[in-house]
Amino acid sequence: MQAGAALAAATLPLPQLSAQVHREAAQSVTSETHYDAIVLGVGSMGSATCYYLARQGWRVLGLEQFDIPHELGSHAGQSRIIRKAYFEHPDYVPLLERAYHNWQALEAETGARLYHKTGLLYFGQPGHALIKGLRESATRYHIRVDDLTAQQQAARFAQFTLPGGYDRLIEPDAGFVTPERAVLLYTQRALQLGATIRTHEKILSHTTSGNRVIVKTEGATYQASKLIITAGPWAGKMLPQLSRHLSVTRQVVGWVKPKDWKKFNAANFPCWTIADHEKPGIFYGFPLLPTEQFGGPIGLKLAHHLHGAATDPDSVNRTVTRADEAALIEVLEKFIPGAYASTLALKTCLYTNTPDENFILDFAPGQPNVVIACGFSGHGFKFASVVGEIMADLAMKGTTQQPIGFLNAKRFG
Ligand SMILES: Cc1cc2nc3c(=O)[nH]c(=O)nc-3n(C[C@H](O)[C@H](O)[C@H](O)COP(=O)(O)OP(=O)(O)OC[C@H]3O[C@@H](n4cnc5c(N)ncnc54)[C@H](O)[C@@H]3O)c2cc1C
Repeated sequence: MQAGAALAAATLPLPQLSAQVHREAAQSVTSETHYDAIVLGVGSMGSATCYYLARQGWRVLGLEQFDIPHELGSHAGQSRIIRKAYFEHPDYVPLLERAYHNWQALEAETGARLYHKTGLLYFGQPGHALIKGLRESATRYHIRVDDLTAQQQAARFAQFTLPGGYDRLIEPDAGFVTPERAVLLYTQRALQLGATIRTHEKILSHTTSGNRVIVKTEGATYQASKLIITAGPWAGKMLPQLSRHLSVTRQVVGWVKPKDWKKFNAANFPCWTIADHEKPGIFYGFPLLPTEQFGGPIGLKLAHHLHGAATDPDSVNRTVTRADEAALIEVLEKFIPGAYASTLALKTCLYTNTPDENFILDFAPGQPNVVIACGFSGHGFKFASVVGEIMADLAMKGTTQQPIGFLNAKRFG
């Protein structure tokens, strides 16, 4: 594809972009069974890994059990928050610097807009881990985060009503990235750079024989020098030695109709996070996103970052209950009172959690030809652009320049 055509593709509505990528993927399929690298799972991390491998000139095969993208794993739902004042652990900040850089590089290469800078509000008591942690990362890495007085918050973001004693902060350079478009564009660029991508082909097993990895699917056997496992919620099934450290949970996301649409567009309403002192976890949400630009669902999106019920990705209950809905609406009524008109959509999504809620980026224990990226614990998407680069380097060069020591697999024993 010529550069001009690639630019046009990047801005296509999602269904058309998806159809185009599927056509290109079908054309990439040959009878070849030997590759330099095989990527197991072409979702958030796998699509970016395919791209970086193909860009380095390796013969890469990406195998995905479903469509690209799809709603059965962890990457569906229109938007993912991206931020740098990382409350979870300051050691993520250098990775985030690289992630921002790499998202912008993909935007420059494709002409797409993937990162939307809306700013991100943080509300909570000063002693809450969210507030303490973001202040620590912001101080250590000189990330701009502005404190707002209660009066400033009420004047600028009158949509929110907060209890007394809450800190109110805004990180102006934060915002959201668009997962489905990003997965499609990484896949498309990988294809254009020579990758083979096979969809609806599930990997059933992988074994090592000498310096080769042998991968079996329902209809074929492939060989490669390296295997990269980016299986998301299915990682435990593909990595039995780590499965006891990976717990998959069912998460619910909602989109609601606001009473006044004008109050919630991105020009006057940023992304937000609230650490409710009466409830565990963190509530968060997004501005209204025009469906013609972002795809559906329509409405004001909100969710609760707290591990849901443990589940199995192959048998999770995707039917959303009244209780799921009530939990989200209750928080909306509490902090953004009077906004709620009706519920427009509710969807389930999956987290894959590690015991310390930090990722695993490493070689598979005891398998030097296999590298793994898993356990993203509900906060991984923003890193996909750097994780793909790390996986490609770890697999093919045996090392990465990025500081990922704290994300090693050995920490769980
Ligand atoms: C509701 C919700 C909200 C979130 N919000 C945020 C946020 O605001 N910001 C943020 O940064 N992150 C967020 N996250 C987390 C982020 O989306 C995930 O961490 C990220 O998508 C995980 O990527 P992944 O590649 O591991 O999994 P996926 O994107 O699910 O990719 C794994 C892929 O592997 C495929 N696969 C698995 N097994 C096989 C097999 N045997 N053969 C072939 N293919 C296989 C799967 O089908 C899938 O496509 C959120 C997650 C959820 C669920």
